[in-house]
Amino acid sequence: MTANLYALFASHFPADKTACCIETRDGQYYTWGDVERASARIANLFSSLGLPPGSRIAVQVEKSPEALILYLATLRAGFVYLPLNTAYRSAEIEYFIGDAEPAVFICSPKNFGWVAQIAFKAGTRHLFTLDEISSGNQGRNSGSLLARAMHFPDHFETVEKQADDLAVILYTSGTTGRSKGAMLSHGNIASNAKVLQQYWHWQAGDVLLHALPLFHIHGLLVAANGALLNGSKMIFLPKFEAAEVCRQLPRSTIFMGVPTYYVRLLADKGFDSHACRNIRLFVSGSAPLLADTFAEFAMRTGHTILERYGMSETAMLTSNPYDRERRGGTVGLPLPGVSLRLAVTGSDGLSSLCGAGEIGDIQVKGPNVFQGYWRMPEKTAEEFTEDGYFKTGDVGKFDSEGYLAIVGRSKDLIISGGYNVYPKEIESVLDEIDGVLESAVIGIPHADFGEAVTAVIVKRSDAKLTTAGVIELMKTSIANFKVPKQVFFADELPRNTMGKVQKNLLREHYSGQAAVMP
Ligand code: AMP
Repeated sequence: MTANLYALFASHFPADKTACCIETRDGQYYTWGDVERASARIANLFSSLGLPPGSRIAVQVEKSPEALILYLATLRAGFVYLPLNTAYRSAEIEYFIGDAEPAVFICSPKNFGWVAQIAFKAGTRHLFTLDEISSGNQGRNSGSLLARAMHFPDHFETVEKQADDLAVILYTSGTTGRSKGAMLSHGNIASNAKVLQQYWHWQAGDVLLHALPLFHIHGLLVAANGALLNGSKMIFLPKFEAAEVCRQLPRSTIFMGVPTYYVRLLADKGFDSHACRNIRLFVSGSAPLLADTFAEFAMRTGHTILERYGMSETAMLTSNPYDRERRGGTVGLPLPGVSLRLAVTGSDGLSSLCGAGEIGDIQVKGPNVFQGYWRMPEKTAEEFTEDGYFKTGDVGKFDSEGYLAIVGRSKDLIISGGYNVYPKEIESVLDEIDGVLESAVIGIPHADFGEAVTAVIVKRSDAKLTTAGVIELMKTSIANFKVPKQVFFADELPRNTMGKVQKNLLREHYSGQAAVMP
């Protein structure tokens, strides 16, 4: 039997193919039959290109039903889907294309000019566009991908795949300036989707309000896959907007978001228990949900947010229970099939496992754990223990009943609005600015974003750098969510005896000084 993830989804599509699969905010309606036929046409197009097995299909397009259909088509045709954040700029895209060497790249028409230059130079032979603006085609999505696919048959025999064949590559931001491509197989993704379907009690009649982006594990592999595996309708919002979410909530039963969404919902006067009357499950993840948000949400709506924890490399690892106590400040219990342990390394270099109440590095094993980093065998080997556990880079603590709390990160990572920002990458860009001697990038607690990217810069004495000037310069070279929200100038950076910048001191010092940020 094939392990192709699409075949698994298709086996759960409703018998009534005229039922709605995806509805958009402006009332467009995609039935399960539409999704099957449209993904078949695109899969036929990809198959006609004569690509070698395992070819990557890289995608940087705005969210739309067609973008999800493109993901399904890639799976069906047996190729590897590589989604990229829409905020990435040319230098970032150049890196991804150079590293992943995709055979096909699909971009927004507005980016075609610069993407084409990069892609063709790097040897990507097939470039298509997919437009987010409804135009022509009966008001449906346009661009060269759909224009070409229209000429292909709407039936396609899904390609056979083994469980460990690659299905998706998710690039994490780079800890050392280089992003790493986490390789997930059909089996990895399917096992996680099935576990979550059971654990969260997906049921007949569920409607998912989908406000997350499609290029990240949360929106694609947790939210969309959940609905696809359950044959459930999705209401697709192009992005999160509190007022629109409030308007759509009564028509939905499940909502998933990053903590920032919940903070923003609570800030919206229209958001109350009446708006949530048909919701059976609110899920939060990708970043820590503050205890205050958890408590205020319960007070305002009567709903207890279910917090879960996972990452691109492993998909979901833990979740608060569906039908037992959900504990604020914890990410719940290890999911069925996931072995999760906490380890500490003593001064003798030996590792030991932690008991309840002890803090240790989170290590995991399971059918959901990825196949390694794309073309980085050594980096992959470093991230696994000798007995095959993946070192997550997160630090946690179990309580007496086995609920896990994330207490910190051993990896240098900032999570801002649910997006990961690796300080090293931002520091290398800052250090290239004329007049910057050195820089340190830290995350400062922020009510809306969770953490706000903040830069501390030591500048040359004659340099005419200003906070606003640095921010403007950064905006031209990196994705907006990575651009420091504020910049401080310092005479020097605090260092320990080994010369390492003491970011904890910087965080303490600048937390109090944080200005009100957008
Ligand atoms: P990503 O690969 O972008 O999903 O980011 C994964 C990282 O986000 C994890 O390694 C954690 O550091 C963090 N993360 C995800 N979910 C949670 C959560 N519920 N609480 C705290 N941190 C989380």
